[in-house]
Amino acid sequence: MTEEQKYQIRVMRNQGQGYKKIAANLCLSRDVVRGYCKRNGINGFGADLAEQHNLNLINEKTYVYCLQCDSKLVQSKRGKKKKYCSIDCKRDWEKNNRKVYKLWCQYCRKQYISQSNNSKFCSNDCYVRNRFFKEEDGAEILGKILKRKSVEFIPKWLEELLLSYLKDY
Ligand SMILES: [Zn+2]
Ligand SMILES: [Zn+2]
Repeated sequence: MTEEQKYQIRVMRNQGQGYKKIAANLCLSRDVVRGYCKRNGINGFGADLAEQHNLNLINEKTYVYCLQCDSKLVQSKRGKKKKYCSIDCKRDWEKNNRKVYKLWCQYCRKQYISQSNNSKFCSNDCYVRNRFFKEEDGAEILGKILKRKSVEFIPKWLEELLLSYLKDY
């Protein structure tokens, strides 16, 4: 495979084209094209591919053009390399590109937004309840269930405990 063919594969994949079509276009076998895409992480589809394409674009223009306004950057030979032409552009970019994760709180089971994808609780209160009040919560919730009262939510630990009993029968 020539460098030109590799380049064309990347371009066509980014346009969402399938292996078969790319292979026919470049007179390569489908397996060769698929193998190349797999090795280079461009074998995904739809949203994944678009996101990857977006990241590639960002990588290519980082340090050359301002990420926010696309004006050409002048890098000084010393010091940290710039990604933005100005403080304002930096702030705007970071505001719009902050990665957030939508997660479900393992205690109150409400959805919340977090900057990290390994957070488990929506708040410190939920963390504390979950960690130190298992007996109280368990007694309260099971008490309500026995009296056929509605419960607001069942923490994940209690749900798992109840389900583990089901498995045993
Ligand atoms: Zn700028
Ligand atoms: Zn919560």
